[in-house]
Amino acid sequence: MIVKRKCVSCGEVKDRSDLIKITRSHGTDEVVVSPDSKTFGRSVYVCKKESCIKNAFKKDRIFKVLKTHKNSSLQEKLQKLL
Ligand SMILES: [Zn+2]
Repeated sequence: MIVKRKCVSCGEVKDRSDLIKITRSHGTDEVVVSPDSKTFGRSVYVCKKESCIKNAFKKDRIFKVLKTHKNSSLQEKLQKLL
C-alpha cells in the first residue's frame, strides 16, 4: 500500500516518499526532521521543493501547525535535504 500525505504548503497529496516529514516529539517537544519510527508526535509533511519549504515558513505556518515555538534553524535543516 502506498501511503499518501498532504503537503503543508501547497496542499497536494503525494506519496510519503516525495515529502519530508517533520515531527514535534511528544515526549521532548523537540522538532525532528525525518524522524525515525520511534519518534511520535504531531507531524507535518512538506514537498521536497524549495518553494514549498519557503511557503511553509511564511507567517510561521509550519510552527502553528506543529503548535510549537519558532525555531530558526528548522528552515535551514529542511533546505539541506533538497
Ligand atoms: Zn508542496
